[in-house]
Amino acid sequence: MGRVKGTVGSLARDQQVEGSNPSDGFMQIQTSKETELVDITERVRELIKDVKDGFCIVFSKHTTTGIIINENEPRLKADILTMLDEIVPKGKGYRHDEIDSNAHSHLRSILLGPGIVVPIENGSLALGAWQSIFLVELDGPRRRTVNVNIVKEG
Ligand code: ZN
Repeated sequence: MGRVKGTVGSLARDQQVEGSNPSDGFMQIQTSKETELVDITERVRELIKDVKDGFCIVFSKHTTTGIIINENEPRLKADILTMLDEIVPKGKGYRHDEIDSNAHSHLRSILLGPGIVVPIENGSLALGAWQSIFLVELDGPRRRTVNVNIVKEG
């Protein structure tokens, strides 16, 4: 695992991306279960609050997590984890399990992807009424880092 910093902050200079006017942040999340959906919408909102227009890239720096946008409804969150369990069952004779016992976590991560892009309009995340941003823990509990790279427009 990487360095431990505050829960929300700016990236060190060497972690910033090249760009015309980037403003970057990150968050650290301690997950509490082997698999779970953690709603990070408010924490992303906090990091973009000083941006009027542009977009942000929410990107997980791990190989056994995913970042998704969907509805924060408890039964749906359970359905998503059930779906992943059905598509990629645990312990199905994966070769990576010979060294790390978490091949299913990596494979589920590939299905979800490491990041998403969210537009920022008039100082707010331009999400639909029922859209929330989730970190999906697939091999927890662990301490996770999610970067939020912001690109301002105008
Ligand atoms: Zn592994």
